[in-house]
Amino acid sequence: MAIENVEDTWSAQELDLDRPDVDAYRDLAEALRSRVSGGVEFDEYARILYATDGSIYRAEPAGVVYPTDTDDVRAAVEVATSHGVPIMPRGTGSSLAGQTVGPGCVVLDLSRHMDGILDIRPGEQTAHIQPGVVQDDLDDTLAEYGLKFAPDPASSNRASVGGGIGNNSTGAHSVRYGITDAYTDAVKAVLSDGSLIHAREVVIDSPEWDDIVSKDDREADIYQTVREVVEENASEIEDRYPDLKRRVSGYNLDRVIYENDDGERVLNLAKLFVGSEGTLGVIVEAELSLVTVPEETALALYCFDTLPDAMRAVPVALDYDVSAVELMDDEMFRLAAGSDGYAEYVDPIPDRAAAALMLEYDSELHDDFEAAIARTNERFLDNGAAFDVVEAYTDADQADLWKLRKAAIPLLMSMDGDPKPYPFIEDATVPPAELAEYVEKFEEVLADHDTSAAYFAHAGSGTLHIRPILNLKEESGIEDMHSITDDVTDLVLEHNGSFSGEHGDGMARTEFTPKMYGEDLWDAFKQVKTAFDPQWWMHPGNVVYRDDPDDIGPDADRGVGADMRENLRYGPDYQSLEPQTTLDFADEGGFSELVELCNGCGTCRQTDGDVMCPTYRASEEEVQTTRGRANLLRSAISGDLSEDEIHSDRFQEEVLDLCVGCKGCKSDCPTGVDMAKLKTELKHQHHEAEGASLRERLFANIDTASKLGSALAPISNWATDIPGARAVMQKLFGIASERELPTFSRETLQDWFDDRGGSTVSRAEADRKVLLFPDTYTNYSYPTAGKAAVETLEAAGVHVTIPDDTAPSGRAAYSTGMLDLARERAETNANRLSDRVAEGWDIVFVEPSDAVMFQDEYRDLLDGSEVSRVAESAYGVLEYLDTFRLDDALPVEDRSLGAAGAVSYHGHCNQKGTNKDHHAVGVMRRVGYEVDPLDSTCCGMAGSFGYHDEHYDLSKTIGRLLFDKVEESDGDRVVAPGGSCRSQLGDRDGIDEIPPHPIEVVAERLPDTATTSRSA
Ligand SMILES: Cc1cc2nc3c(=O)[nH]c(=O)nc-3n(C[C@H](O)[C@H](O)[C@H](O)COP(=O)(O)OP(=O)(O)OC[C@H]3O[C@@H](n4cnc5c(N)ncnc54)[C@H](O)[C@@H]3O)c2cc1C
Ligand code: SF4
Ligand code: SF4
Repeated sequence: MAIENVEDTWSAQELDLDRPDVDAYRDLAEALRSRVSGGVEFDEYARILYATDGSIYRAEPAGVVYPTDTDDVRAAVEVATSHGVPIMPRGTGSSLAGQTVGPGCVVLDLSRHMDGILDIRPGEQTAHIQPGVVQDDLDDTLAEYGLKFAPDPASSNRASVGGGIGNNSTGAHSVRYGITDAYTDAVKAVLSDGSLIHAREVVIDSPEWDDIVSKDDREADIYQTVREVVEENASEIEDRYPDLKRRVSGYNLDRVIYENDDGERVLNLAKLFVGSEGTLGVIVEAELSLVTVPEETALALYCFDTLPDAMRAVPVALDYDVSAVELMDDEMFRLAAGSDGYAEYVDPIPDRAAAALMLEYDSELHDDFEAAIARTNERFLDNGAAFDVVEAYTDADQADLWKLRKAAIPLLMSMDGDPKPYPFIEDATVPPAELAEYVEKFEEVLADHDTSAAYFAHAGSGTLHIRPILNLKEESGIEDMHSITDDVTDLVLEHNGSFSGEHGDGMARTEFTPKMYGEDLWDAFKQVKTAFDPQWWMHPGNVVYRDDPDDIGPDADRGVGADMRENLRYGPDYQSLEPQTTLDFADEGGFSELVELCNGCGTCRQTDGDVMCPTYRASEEEVQTTRGRANLLRSAISGDLSEDEIHSDRFQEEVLDLCVGCKGCKSDCPTGVDMAKLKTELKHQHHEAEGASLRERLFANIDTASKLGSALAPISNWATDIPGARAVMQKLFGIASERELPTFSRETLQDWFDDRGGSTVSRAEADRKVLLFPDTYTNYSYPTAGKAAVETLEAAGVHVTIPDDTAPSGRAAYSTGMLDLARERAETNANRLSDRVAEGWDIVFVEPSDAVMFQDEYRDLLDGSEVSRVAESAYGVLEYLDTFRLDDALPVEDRSLGAAGAVSYHGHCNQKGTNKDHHAVGVMRRVGYEVDPLDSTCCGMAGSFGYHDEHYDLSKTIGRLLFDKVEESDGDRVVAPGGSCRSQLGDRDGIDEIPPHPIEVVAERLPDTATTSRSA
């Protein structure tokens, strides 16, 4: 969950940086600042950050406003339109059709401040919200009443409900629940003249109706126009609107007038706002209907030999009261099988399956899941074309199948090279009974264009996410996109479908709206638009467009007509520099390709679960998302920013330095945008060009300072308490005076080990031998964890030695972008350790960041067999125990779960980023601890980051997210392997000790006798 109080967030605006407004909009920006209490950003970076969404489009807006309330929205609309500049509302910007890209518009970002849940009425099953609330946050709050907002887009962990209303969103359960328009009962919206409209059910020709239409104002005109347009076009509406569970293209003229539960004929403008993509007004509040959450579900996945066989089964499946019918094809299975992250989920699917249909059954519709699945088995297996079924009853088994289904987009989008499966006709929808024939003809269209696609998604509602693979950096790819869309839209019409059944019109589909609805309804759409927005100030060019230069409308960049080939993010003119890099980017296809992997999906704006992205969670600012950084980087390498911008103070401090380098995005970003690596490379290039600061050099060489500190302990520990000492550190090195500095141990881990005479287990009697790496923090500041590691390994029968000829790992140098130093250290360690590794020694680390440095970053710094050998033999200590199940040999008396109490485990981000975080949990459980693995993000320290004066507050804000998780957990105490995480956890109010490393709590389970005998 995001931080709830705005006061608790930290803003990049606190950095003392120059952010001049662009010349063209300086007066507008000033005028907005004089009227709006929220932020107003019209500088070059803000425009880049808001130039893209999750689609293939890109166009810079005029600037961005972050309204705090309805008055702000009204003021922003009035000021912008009085300056002749259009408006575009925005939530998370995760849209796929380009409907959140507004060339030359003032963007109103409602996600920042207008994200409240105003009221929940459980008895009535309704909620009153502000538009910026994230759907999962709303559902988390509703869960305590057993309720949820029914539409469930796959993007619900970051998508705003307002954006869902704008798009008429829906998800896998539309078969059961329908889509957003059915759950949006009323909205309050600001119109383009700044007036506020309360759109709700109004009984036609009632006294209320008469009162509204008798006035001489915009509201009266809207009600009358909409009624006339709907009544005049009744037969066209009947004929032209397809009969589908999901129809998202165009305005909802078919839903705005209806008979309510009391049998009255009502007009509800809220239904028209749904799916209007910000073109009618800015929604500032909404009244939603809710549904109850089924207590249980079950899944059955039917496997077919051909895709058409699976398609033919869809309409049949709908006869069985299922709550979802989802499709996956063999292209997806193949991609999943070849990926690290998803291979395990594809295991249950037989190799022969060319397609699979996944059916969900819920407890509100079925009392007995096994009986329900037996019925569908009889239909599809015994008497149908399916040859196998995978049944899933437990939550874990179902979660695995859903993970496989939801892996489709990430798997497809991480495809190497320029041709990519782009979204542009990816949600065309036809009646389920037509699917089989539609798919066969679709394949012909693809073959005609010499391309292919994967097939997946919501077959039960007739929506297939088909993304043809094209190269949009080439003219021919763009022309193919247009002609495929033309052909497919013909096909969809032939099959009584909708060009969009889920993601909306935007820049991709608006061109084709007249083709879908015909001349009369196209005209009707324009009349409706004009009634709401006479000068077409609201997000012009979406849903409807100007046919003629004489038509009403602002001369915004979209001008007259609509063409899906305009405003592309890439295109034949797009060029990017491929910089000479010090790190090896071959695995990622090069530096630029890694930057361009960001497709704008917005997953890095999720606020709960996983690690990515801690700085966004602490700030709620787009510039502090992985996406924001990737967008600015792409602008830098493609010439949208000037060539030397990368070396500017702003780029360095706001774009690069605020990334804590946690590697969360490496694993959590669906396409694997590894921002930590990109940042390190660019920091290095900056140091080469401009030199490194004193503080960067100090932290890069922290081992030297720690060695000195340890030699002078305890005096060095007192030194920081000398009055004025901290102020001097702050002034000289930029180290936050509030931060507790690590203390030094007079006796290093190495001293202790030498003094005890080496290992207690002889080489001869041991099966395994370990070089325990004396990392800087463990050796000089916290030897206790190192001692525990030695004693535990020995108790498991391992011979241990602590090498005295290694260099520091280079992690500190790497994190500060001092790559020459990091490489020198990597080289020293690879040279010195590789022979010993070849002789059978393993290298084990107490500090996770050093372990990952050897395992991962060394391969980016160096080539050759020596480094590979060393990297492959490097383990975190818990990873080592778990990988070889060495903990089975530990003399632990009572291994029953909970015998040793309960711990809350905060894993290290670097290990999470490399999928090595789970090992500690397994080991601790097997020696008797109940373990609650916290689903926590970075602790906020991130090596030296939390010590920086200018980052201290951000670091503490991120830390509070972790502290909240600790408080919510039932563990008796918290454990964390990372030294800096433990420092941050030790800095909590009322806590005066740093928590233990997991190896310490494992060692606590050993009998005292474990370390008695010693032999070399
Ligand atoms: C990987 C991925 C998966 C997706 N899966 C689904 C899916 O399963 N189902 C689905 O329906 N969509 C899906 N989407 C598309 C998108 O995420 C959803 O439509 C989502 O609901 C949009 O929310 P948002 O906050 O990002 O809206 P935005 O993109 O910010 O805005 C969407 C539209 O609404 C308008 N708008 C936003 N706020 C307001 C407001 N306050 N008043 C008026 N207009 C407003 C905007 O101008 C824009 O036109 C997916 C996208 C991605 C990247
Ligand atoms: S960085 Fe990754 S998660 Fe974020 S928007 Fe880009 S692709 Fe999506
Ligand atoms: S490395 Fe961490 S802080 Fe930086 S962009 Fe990735 S998730 Fe965000």
